Amino acid sequence: MTSLVTEDSWEGKSWVESANDATLGFPLQSLPYCSFVSTSALDATAHLGVGIGSFILDLYELAHAGALNSLPAAIRAACSAPQLNPLLRCGPPAWSALRRLLFDLLKDDPTSDQRDEGNAAADHRRIVAASMVPMVRARFLRPVAVANYTDFYASIHHATNIGKLFRPDAPLLPNYQWVPIGYHGRASSLVVSGTEIRRPHGQFKLPGAPTPTFAPTLQLDYELEVAAIIGTGNPLGTPIPISEAESHLFGLSLLNDWSARDIQVWEAQPLGPFLGKSFATSLSPWVIPMDALRPYRTPLAPHDPAPLPYLAETSSAIDLSLEVLLSTTRMREASLPPISLSKSNLSDLHWSFAQMIAHHTSNGCNLVEGDILATGTVSGAIPGSQGCLLEITQRGQHPIHLPNGETRTFLEDGDEVIFRGHCARPGLPTITFGECRGTILPAI
Ligand code: MN
Repeated sequence: MTSLVTEDSWEGKSWVESANDATLGFPLQSLPYCSFVSTSALDATAHLGVGIGSFILDLYELAHAGALNSLPAAIRAACSAPQLNPLLRCGPPAWSALRRLLFDLLKDDPTSDQRDEGNAAADHRRIVAASMVPMVRARFLRPVAVANYTDFYASIHHATNIGKLFRPDAPLLPNYQWVPIGYHGRASSLVVSGTEIRRPHGQFKLPGAPTPTFAPTLQLDYELEVAAIIGTGNPLGTPIPISEAESHLFGLSLLNDWSARDIQVWEAQPLGPFLGKSFATSLSPWVIPMDALRPYRTPLAPHDPAPLPYLAETSSAIDLSLEVLLSTTRMREASLPPISLSKSNLSDLHWSFAQMIAHHTSNGCNLVEGDILATGTVSGAIPGSQGCLLEITQRGQHPIHLPNGETRTFLEDGDEVIFRGHCARPGLPTITFGECRGTILPAI
Protein backbone atom coordinates (compact mmCIF):
# COMPACT_ATOMS: atom_id res chain seq x y z
CA MET A 1 0.00 0.00 0.00
CA THR A 2 1.43 3.37 -0.96
CA SER A 3 1.27 6.15 1.57
CA LEU A 4 0.05 9.47 0.29
CA VAL A 5 1.92 12.59 1.35
CA THR A 6 -0.89 15.00 2.08
CA GLU A 7 -0.76 18.76 1.92
CA ASP A 8 -0.65 18.79 5.70
CA SER A 9 2.58 16.83 5.83
CA TRP A 10 5.43 18.53 7.67
CA GLU A 11 7.93 15.82 6.81
CA GLY A 12 11.01 16.23 4.70
CA LYS A 13 14.40 17.85 4.54
CA SER A 14 15.53 21.28 3.41
CA TRP A 15 17.72 22.17 0.48
CA VAL A 16 19.55 24.37 3.01
CA GLU A 17 22.02 21.68 4.03
CA SER A 18 22.74 22.99 7.54
CA ALA A 19 19.01 22.73 8.34
CA ASN A 20 19.42 18.95 8.24
CA ASP A 21 22.28 19.04 10.77
CA ALA A 22 20.62 17.78 13.96
CA THR A 23 23.28 19.39 16.16
CA LEU A 24 22.19 22.90 15.09
CA GLY A 25 18.51 22.46 16.00
CA PHE A 26 17.06 24.72 13.28
CA PRO A 27 15.35 22.15 11.01
CA LEU A 28 12.70 22.77 8.37
CA GLN A 29 10.06 21.78 10.96
CA SER A 30 10.95 24.56 13.44
CA LEU A 31 11.20 27.88 11.54
CA PRO A 32 11.39 30.13 14.65
CA TYR A 33 11.05 33.91 14.33
CA CYS A 34 13.49 36.62 15.37
CA SER A 35 14.15 40.31 14.86
CA PHE A 36 17.69 41.07 13.74
CA VAL A 37 20.10 43.49 12.15
CA SER A 38 22.61 42.15 9.66
CA THR A 39 26.05 43.32 10.79
CA SER A 40 27.28 43.27 7.20
CA ALA A 41 24.42 45.34 5.76
CA LEU A 42 24.98 49.03 5.08
CA ASP A 43 21.73 50.12 6.75
CA ALA A 44 21.08 48.92 10.29
CA THR A 45 17.33 48.44 9.92
CA ALA A 46 15.73 45.70 12.00
CA HIS A 47 14.09 42.95 9.96
CA LEU A 48 12.06 39.92 10.91
CA GLY A 49 13.77 36.63 10.17
CA VAL A 50 13.21 32.89 10.36
CA GLY A 51 15.93 30.50 11.55
CA ILE A 52 16.88 27.73 9.13
CA GLY A 53 20.09 25.75 9.69
CA SER A 54 22.93 28.20 10.28
CA PHE A 55 21.07 31.01 8.46
CA ILE A 56 18.35 33.57 9.01
CA LEU A 57 15.87 33.92 6.20
CA ASP A 58 15.18 37.66 5.99
CA LEU A 59 11.39 38.08 5.66
CA TYR A 60 11.70 41.73 4.59
CA GLU A 61 14.00 40.80 1.70
CA LEU A 62 11.84 37.81 0.83
CA ALA A 63 8.70 39.95 0.67
CA HIS A 64 10.44 42.58 -1.45
CA ALA A 65 11.78 39.93 -3.84
CA GLY A 66 8.18 38.88 -4.53
CA ALA A 67 8.53 35.41 -2.98
CA LEU A 68 5.50 35.99 -0.70
CA ASN A 69 3.18 37.32 -3.41
CA SER A 70 0.77 34.40 -2.99
CA LEU A 71 -0.06 35.68 0.51
CA PRO A 72 -2.55 38.47 1.35
CA ALA A 73 -1.12 42.00 1.42
CA ALA A 74 -1.55 42.29 5.21
CA ILE A 75 0.76 39.32 5.81
CA ARG A 76 3.33 40.62 3.32
CA ALA A 77 3.27 44.00 5.07
CA ALA A 78 3.64 42.29 8.45
CA CYS A 79 6.72 40.46 7.14
CA SER A 80 8.32 43.84 6.36
CA ALA A 81 7.87 45.07 9.94
CA PRO A 82 10.79 45.12 12.42
CA GLN A 83 8.91 43.15 15.10
CA LEU A 84 6.27 40.42 15.21
CA ASN A 85 3.30 42.52 16.40
CA PRO A 86 1.70 43.20 12.97
CA LEU A 87 1.97 39.50 12.11
CA LEU A 88 0.43 38.56 15.47
CA ARG A 89 -2.52 40.88 14.72
CA CYS A 90 -3.13 38.96 11.44
CA GLY A 91 -4.28 35.95 13.50
CA PRO A 92 -3.78 32.18 13.50
CA PRO A 93 -4.85 31.44 9.88
CA ALA A 94 -2.27 33.98 8.67
CA TRP A 95 0.45 32.47 10.89
CA SER A 96 -0.32 29.04 9.40
CA ALA A 97 -0.35 30.34 5.82
CA LEU A 98 3.04 32.04 6.21
CA ARG A 99 4.53 29.02 7.95
CA ARG A 100 3.29 26.72 5.18
CA LEU A 101 4.71 28.94 2.43
CA LEU A 102 8.10 29.24 4.17
CA PHE A 103 8.15 25.46 4.63
CA ASP A 104 7.43 24.93 0.93
CA LEU A 105 10.06 27.48 -0.14
CA LEU A 106 12.71 25.79 1.98
CA LYS A 107 11.74 22.15 1.40
CA ASP A 108 13.93 20.00 -0.80
CA ASP A 109 11.28 18.67 -3.17
CA PRO A 110 12.81 16.18 -5.64
CA THR A 111 9.68 16.25 -7.83
CA SER A 112 10.30 19.90 -8.68
CA ASP A 113 13.60 18.98 -10.38
CA GLN A 114 11.78 17.61 -13.40
CA ARG A 115 12.54 19.15 -16.77
CA ASP A 116 9.71 21.65 -17.23
CA GLU A 117 9.85 22.89 -13.62
CA GLY A 118 13.60 22.80 -13.13
CA ASN A 119 14.32 26.37 -14.07
CA ALA A 120 11.46 27.82 -12.00
CA ALA A 121 12.58 25.82 -8.96
CA ALA A 122 16.18 26.94 -9.42
CA ASP A 123 14.98 30.55 -9.77
CA HIS A 124 12.97 30.52 -6.58
CA ARG A 125 15.83 28.91 -4.66
CA ARG A 126 18.11 31.67 -5.92
CA ILE A 127 15.65 34.30 -4.64
CA VAL A 128 15.34 32.59 -1.27
CA ALA A 129 19.11 32.01 -0.98
CA ALA A 130 19.73 35.69 -1.76
CA SER A 131 17.50 36.57 1.24
CA MET A 132 19.53 34.51 3.73
CA VAL A 133 22.02 35.90 6.25
CA PRO A 134 24.45 33.71 8.24
CA MET A 135 23.36 33.68 11.91
CA VAL A 136 26.89 34.60 12.95
CA ARG A 137 26.45 37.91 11.13
CA ALA A 138 23.24 38.88 12.94
CA ARG A 139 22.69 41.10 15.96
CA PHE A 140 19.41 40.17 17.62
CA LEU A 141 16.76 42.55 18.92
CA ARG A 142 13.58 42.04 20.95
CA PRO A 143 11.32 40.01 18.63
CA VAL A 144 8.10 41.61 19.94
CA ALA A 145 7.06 44.94 21.38
CA VAL A 146 5.75 43.83 24.76
CA ALA A 147 2.95 45.88 26.28
CA ASN A 148 2.45 43.76 29.39
CA TYR A 149 4.50 41.15 31.18
CA THR A 150 2.96 38.83 33.76
CA ASP A 151 5.07 36.38 35.74
CA PHE A 152 3.44 33.24 37.14
CA TYR A 153 4.58 30.73 39.77
CA ALA A 154 3.55 27.59 37.87
CA SER A 155 6.16 25.10 39.13
CA ILE A 156 4.89 23.31 42.21
CA HIS A 157 8.42 22.04 42.85
CA HIS A 158 9.77 25.61 42.87
CA ALA A 159 6.90 26.75 45.09
CA THR A 160 7.57 23.86 47.49
CA ASN A 161 11.35 24.38 47.57
CA ILE A 162 10.98 28.13 48.24
CA GLY A 163 8.22 27.46 50.77
CA LYS A 164 10.52 25.08 52.71
CA LEU A 165 13.09 27.87 53.14
CA PHE A 166 10.61 30.23 54.75
CA ARG A 167 7.94 27.88 56.20
CA PRO A 168 9.51 24.44 56.80
CA ASP A 169 6.34 23.08 58.44
CA ALA A 170 3.91 24.10 55.69
CA PRO A 171 5.89 24.86 52.54
CA LEU A 172 3.00 24.95 50.08
CA LEU A 173 0.40 27.60 50.84
CA PRO A 174 -3.20 26.30 50.81
CA ASN A 175 -4.18 28.33 47.73
CA TYR A 176 -1.40 26.95 45.49
CA GLN A 177 -3.23 23.96 44.02
CA TRP A 178 -6.37 25.99 43.33
CA VAL A 179 -5.30 29.35 41.94
CA PRO A 180 -2.44 30.11 39.48
CA ILE A 181 -0.30 32.65 41.36
CA GLY A 182 1.27 35.52 39.46
CA TYR A 183 2.20 39.19 39.56
CA HIS A 184 2.26 41.97 37.00
CA GLY A 185 5.85 42.58 35.94
CA ARG A 186 7.53 45.40 34.12
CA ALA A 187 7.52 45.24 30.29
CA SER A 188 9.82 48.25 29.78
CA SER A 189 12.84 46.52 31.31
CA LEU A 190 12.62 43.39 29.15
CA VAL A 191 15.90 43.12 27.24
CA VAL A 192 17.12 40.73 24.57
CA SER A 193 19.63 37.98 25.33
CA GLY A 194 23.21 39.28 25.42
CA THR A 195 22.29 42.61 27.03
CA GLU A 196 24.53 43.19 30.06
CA ILE A 197 22.76 43.34 33.42
CA ARG A 198 23.79 46.08 35.85
CA ARG A 199 23.77 44.99 39.50
CA PRO A 200 20.92 47.03 40.99
CA HIS A 201 20.88 49.13 44.14
CA GLY A 202 18.02 48.61 46.51
CA GLN A 203 16.77 48.67 50.06
CA PHE A 204 17.26 45.55 52.15
CA LYS A 205 17.80 44.58 55.75
CA LEU A 206 20.90 42.64 56.78
CA PRO A 207 20.38 39.91 59.40
CA GLY A 208 20.51 41.40 62.87
CA ALA A 209 20.71 44.98 61.63
CA PRO A 210 18.35 47.40 63.40
CA THR A 211 17.55 49.35 60.22
CA PRO A 212 17.62 48.66 56.48
CA THR A 213 20.38 49.88 54.15
CA PHE A 214 20.39 51.13 50.55
CA ALA A 215 23.22 49.47 48.62
CA PRO A 216 23.99 47.21 45.63
CA THR A 217 22.20 43.88 46.07
CA LEU A 218 24.24 41.13 47.75
CA GLN A 219 21.90 38.38 46.58
CA LEU A 220 21.58 38.64 42.79
CA ASP A 221 19.92 35.56 41.29
CA TYR A 222 18.53 34.25 38.00
CA GLU A 223 15.20 32.47 37.42
CA LEU A 224 14.95 29.88 34.62
CA GLU A 225 11.61 30.55 32.92
CA VAL A 226 9.75 30.08 29.66
CA ALA A 227 7.87 33.01 28.09
CA ALA A 228 4.58 32.53 26.25
CA ILE A 229 4.05 35.18 23.57
CA ILE A 230 0.37 36.07 23.24
CA GLY A 231 -0.65 36.15 19.57
CA THR A 232 -4.20 37.46 19.77
CA GLY A 233 -5.79 39.14 22.77
CA ASN A 234 -9.36 39.45 24.04
CA PRO A 235 -11.72 42.40 24.44
CA LEU A 236 -11.86 43.91 27.93
CA GLY A 237 -14.62 42.17 29.85
CA THR A 238 -14.60 39.00 27.73
CA PRO A 239 -12.75 36.09 29.37
CA ILE A 240 -11.00 33.49 27.20
CA PRO A 241 -12.47 30.03 27.92
CA ILE A 242 -9.83 27.43 28.61
CA SER A 243 -10.90 25.40 25.56
CA GLU A 244 -9.88 28.34 23.34
CA ALA A 245 -6.90 29.52 25.35
CA GLU A 246 -4.11 27.90 23.31
CA SER A 247 -5.36 29.41 20.06
CA HIS A 248 -4.37 32.81 21.52
CA LEU A 249 -0.78 31.67 21.98
CA PHE A 250 1.75 32.38 19.20
CA GLY A 251 4.95 30.84 20.50
CA LEU A 252 7.51 30.36 23.25
CA SER A 253 10.91 31.80 24.18
CA LEU A 254 13.33 31.47 27.09
CA LEU A 255 13.22 34.11 29.82
CA ASN A 256 15.49 35.04 32.74
CA ASP A 257 13.64 36.82 35.54
CA TRP A 258 16.71 38.33 37.24
CA SER A 259 15.94 38.69 40.95
CA ALA A 260 17.62 40.55 43.83
CA ARG A 261 16.62 38.29 46.74
CA ASP A 262 17.56 40.63 49.59
CA ILE A 263 15.55 43.49 48.05
CA GLN A 264 12.70 41.11 47.20
CA VAL A 265 12.39 39.60 50.69
CA TRP A 266 12.36 43.01 52.40
CA GLU A 267 9.88 44.70 50.04
CA ALA A 268 7.48 41.88 49.11
CA GLN A 269 5.34 41.92 52.27
CA PRO A 270 2.43 42.25 51.74
CA LEU A 271 2.01 43.15 48.03
CA GLY A 272 4.59 40.96 46.28
CA PRO A 273 7.54 41.51 43.94
CA PHE A 274 8.51 45.07 42.92
CA LEU A 275 12.03 46.55 42.55
CA GLY A 276 13.75 43.24 43.32
CA LYS A 277 12.58 42.09 39.88
CA SER A 278 11.92 45.12 37.68
CA PHE A 279 15.54 46.19 37.02
CA ALA A 280 15.88 43.72 34.09
CA THR A 281 14.36 40.60 32.53
CA SER A 282 16.15 38.86 29.63
CA LEU A 283 14.38 37.28 26.68
CA SER A 284 15.92 34.86 24.16
CA PRO A 285 15.90 36.08 20.53
CA TRP A 286 13.93 33.18 19.04
CA VAL A 287 10.15 32.68 19.23
CA ILE A 288 9.31 29.04 18.56
CA PRO A 289 5.82 28.83 16.98
CA MET A 290 3.31 26.66 18.86
CA ASP A 291 2.70 24.82 15.58
CA ALA A 292 6.33 23.64 15.59
CA LEU A 293 5.90 22.25 19.12
CA ARG A 294 2.89 20.05 18.26
CA PRO A 295 4.92 16.80 17.99
CA TYR A 296 6.55 17.39 21.39
CA ARG A 297 3.37 17.53 23.47
CA THR A 298 3.00 15.21 26.44
CA PRO A 299 0.20 14.51 28.93
CA LEU A 300 -0.24 17.01 31.76
CA ALA A 301 0.80 16.08 35.27
CA PRO A 302 -2.34 14.93 37.16
CA HIS A 303 -4.06 17.51 39.36
CA ASP A 304 -5.24 16.41 42.79
CA PRO A 305 -7.51 18.10 43.79
CA ALA A 306 -9.07 18.63 40.36
CA PRO A 307 -9.08 22.30 39.38
CA LEU A 308 -12.26 24.37 39.35
CA PRO A 309 -14.26 23.99 36.10
CA TYR A 310 -12.96 27.22 34.48
CA LEU A 311 -9.44 25.79 34.81
CA ALA A 312 -10.33 22.19 33.83
CA GLU A 313 -7.60 21.43 31.35
CA THR A 314 -8.18 20.36 27.79
CA SER A 315 -4.66 20.70 26.38
CA SER A 316 -1.32 19.04 27.12
CA ALA A 317 2.14 19.86 28.45
CA ILE A 318 5.27 20.49 26.36
CA ASP A 319 8.31 18.25 26.62
CA LEU A 320 10.92 21.04 26.58
CA SER A 321 14.30 20.26 28.14
CA LEU A 322 15.89 23.24 29.89
CA GLU A 323 19.40 23.87 31.20
CA VAL A 324 21.20 26.60 33.17
CA LEU A 325 24.93 27.17 32.69
CA LEU A 326 27.34 29.53 34.43
CA SER A 327 30.56 31.10 33.17
CA THR A 328 32.61 33.20 35.59
CA THR A 329 35.28 35.77 34.70
CA ARG A 330 38.00 33.44 36.01
CA MET A 331 36.62 30.52 34.00
CA ARG A 332 36.70 32.60 30.81
CA GLU A 333 40.24 33.85 31.56
CA ALA A 334 41.33 30.19 31.86
CA SER A 335 39.39 29.26 28.68
CA LEU A 336 37.17 26.90 30.68
CA PRO A 337 33.73 26.16 29.21
CA PRO A 338 30.53 27.16 31.06
CA ILE A 339 29.39 24.59 33.63
CA SER A 340 25.89 23.21 33.98
CA LEU A 341 24.10 24.25 37.19
CA SER A 342 20.77 22.49 36.62
CA LYS A 343 18.45 20.77 34.17
CA SER A 344 14.67 20.71 34.23
CA ASN A 345 11.68 20.18 31.95
CA LEU A 346 8.71 22.41 31.14
CA SER A 347 6.36 19.43 31.40
CA ASP A 348 6.92 19.43 35.19
CA LEU A 349 4.81 22.59 35.59
CA HIS A 350 1.68 22.39 37.70
CA TRP A 351 -0.21 24.93 35.59
CA SER A 352 -0.31 24.89 31.76
CA PHE A 353 -0.22 27.94 29.50
CA ALA A 354 -3.92 27.38 28.72
CA GLN A 355 -4.70 27.52 32.44
CA MET A 356 -2.59 30.67 32.85
CA ILE A 357 -4.43 32.38 29.96
CA ALA A 358 -7.88 31.27 31.16
CA HIS A 359 -7.13 32.41 34.71
CA HIS A 360 -5.52 35.72 33.64
CA THR A 361 -8.63 36.68 31.63
CA SER A 362 -11.21 35.11 33.97
CA ASN A 363 -11.98 38.50 35.54
CA GLY A 364 -12.34 40.12 32.13
CA CYS A 365 -8.74 41.41 32.00
CA ASN A 366 -7.71 41.90 28.39
CA LEU A 367 -4.53 40.42 26.94
CA VAL A 368 -3.04 42.13 23.90
CA GLU A 369 -0.86 40.76 21.14
CA GLY A 370 2.79 40.57 22.15
CA ASP A 371 2.01 40.27 25.87
CA ILE A 372 4.31 37.90 27.71
CA LEU A 373 3.09 35.40 30.25
CA ALA A 374 6.10 33.78 31.91
CA THR A 375 5.98 30.49 33.79
CA GLY A 376 7.91 31.38 36.91
CA THR A 377 11.01 29.40 37.81
CA VAL A 378 10.91 25.97 36.19
CA SER A 379 12.20 23.47 38.77
CA GLY A 380 11.89 19.71 38.91
CA ALA A 381 11.36 17.33 41.81
CA ILE A 382 14.92 15.97 42.00
CA PRO A 383 18.29 17.44 43.04
CA GLY A 384 19.98 19.11 40.08
CA SER A 385 16.69 20.40 38.67
CA GLN A 386 16.29 23.62 40.68
CA GLY A 387 15.92 26.66 38.42
CA CYS A 388 17.47 29.40 40.61
CA LEU A 389 20.36 29.87 43.06
CA LEU A 390 17.97 30.59 45.96
CA GLU A 391 16.86 26.96 45.72
CA ILE A 392 20.23 25.41 44.82
CA THR A 393 22.16 27.10 47.65
CA GLN A 394 19.23 27.07 50.09
CA ARG A 395 19.29 30.87 50.39
CA GLY A 396 23.08 30.93 50.45
CA GLN A 397 23.53 28.27 53.16
CA HIS A 398 25.15 25.70 50.83
CA PRO A 399 27.52 27.32 48.31
CA ILE A 400 28.09 25.79 44.88
CA HIS A 401 31.66 24.57 44.41
CA LEU A 402 32.84 25.22 40.86
CA PRO A 403 35.49 22.98 39.22
CA ASN A 404 38.10 25.78 39.24
CA GLY A 405 37.87 26.20 43.02
CA GLU A 406 35.50 29.18 43.03
CA THR A 407 32.30 29.10 45.07
CA ARG A 408 28.96 30.82 44.57
CA THR A 409 26.00 31.51 46.80
CA PHE A 410 24.57 34.25 44.56
CA LEU A 411 25.87 35.84 41.32
CA GLU A 412 29.07 37.88 41.31
CA ASP A 413 30.08 40.65 38.92
CA GLY A 414 31.32 39.22 35.62
CA ASP A 415 29.25 36.04 35.93
CA GLU A 416 27.44 35.07 32.75
CA VAL A 417 24.24 33.03 33.05
CA ILE A 418 23.21 31.00 30.00
CA PHE A 419 19.86 29.26 29.53
CA ARG A 420 19.38 26.67 26.80
CA GLY A 421 16.31 24.70 25.73
CA HIS A 422 15.44 22.04 23.18
CA CYS A 423 12.68 19.62 22.20
CA ALA A 424 13.73 16.13 21.13
CA ARG A 425 11.83 12.94 20.39
CA PRO A 426 13.02 9.70 18.73
CA GLY A 427 12.41 9.89 14.98
CA LEU A 428 11.81 13.66 15.04
CA PRO A 429 14.21 16.54 14.39
CA THR A 430 15.60 18.29 17.45
CA ILE A 431 14.31 21.85 17.85
CA THR A 432 16.48 24.32 19.73
CA PHE A 433 15.18 27.32 21.66
CA GLY A 434 18.62 28.89 21.32
CA GLU A 435 20.12 30.69 24.30
CA CYS A 436 19.20 33.38 26.78
CA ARG A 437 22.41 35.01 28.05
CA GLY A 438 23.27 37.81 30.42
CA THR A 439 26.49 38.99 32.10
CA ILE A 440 26.49 40.86 35.41
CA LEU A 441 28.09 44.31 35.42
CA PRO A 442 29.23 45.90 38.70
CA ALA A 443 26.92 48.43 40.34
CA ILE A 444 27.61 52.05 39.39
MN1 MN B 1 9.95 34.81 38.20
